[in-house]
Amino acid sequence: MNHLSSSCASEVTRNVVMDGKAFAQKIRAEVAEQVPAFVADAGRQPGLAVVLVGSDPASQVYVRTKMRQAAEVGIKSFQHLLGVDTTQAQLLSLIEILNQDDSIDGILVQLPLPKQINETAVIEAIDPAKDVDGFHPINVGRLSAGHPGMVPCTPLGCLLLLQDRLGDLSGLKAVVVGRSNIVGKPIGQLLLNANCTVTTVHSRSQHIVEECRQADILVVAVGRPCMIGDEHIKPGAIVLDVGINRIADAQGETRLVGDVDFDAAITTAGGLTPVPGGIGPMTVACLMRNTLTAARQRLLAH
Ligand code: NDP
Repeated sequence: MNHLSSSCASEVTRNVVMDGKAFAQKIRAEVAEQVPAFVADAGRQPGLAVVLVGSDPASQVYVRTKMRQAAEVGIKSFQHLLGVDTTQAQLLSLIEILNQDDSIDGILVQLPLPKQINETAVIEAIDPAKDVDGFHPINVGRLSAGHPGMVPCTPLGCLLLLQDRLGDLSGLKAVVVGRSNIVGKPIGQLLLNANCTVTTVHSRSQHIVEECRQADILVVAVGRPCMIGDEHIKPGAIVLDVGINRIADAQGETRLVGDVDFDAAITTAGGLTPVPGGIGPMTVACLMRNTLTAARQRLLAH
């Protein structure tokens, strides 16, 4: 049952670093290969609307990356850049227009939103069939019930990477650090649906090191630079580092690090995603995959 014990020694020497960038490229290539069949059936490209409110520099980078990758795989993207003073009513009326627009299969509202806008109201206004982020309560409920629906991109990327490395995940012990609605909770649900035994730990949990050391699969989504060291890791475990933290070094140069201390963890883990180049690229690739899935499902429903 335990896929790790038998293959651990060879995995460590063969390939501990899990190259999310390369795997994401493979997913995008699969989407690109499947888009022409959709175009032939639907008479149009799949359509993705990307909505950005305000001018947060990190969000601008994410939106540009999503638009570029959409174009590369044959998805037509529509950018909606709204001013930082946009009201909730204005954003909701744009979403209603996008909901009604038949050429749009996926609607992505880049988070976070400015403080005058209630994120929950916005997420709940998106047609669940076009909810390519998988944050709408209908899709959250479907995931929780183990029914088909739109699955959030980062958790989906984690699952695909794990299945690529380990195959069937049944019976493995998974520990998820973090319980946010967009990352920790849906990852836990996906792993449970994949027949893992799942424990979620969070800021109020006790004995986190001991909990983590039980894990065959350790997924960390906290937002605290390098909080997970080799003492948290069972030898041979697969460790996915979702965290993205920008830190400054002694010279004042900034760089991205994850929630896992990479140099420490690499000596113990059987597989480890780097930051950058791990889960981040998988997230965007899964957005492309979700958009094509939504397009196909909408076509079937019509
Ligand atoms: P949130 O801040 O929403 O959630 C953080 C979670 O970590 C909370 O559940 C919190 O617990 C828990 N936590 C905080 N401190 C501790 C601690 N000391 N010990 C154990 N648990 C703790 O963050 P997100 O889930 O949105 O994001 C997490 C990280 O992932 C961030 O770095 C973010 O940038 C990154 N991210 C990366 C993505 C990618 O594409 N790679 C996509 C999305 C996010 P509690 O609930 O008790 O407060």
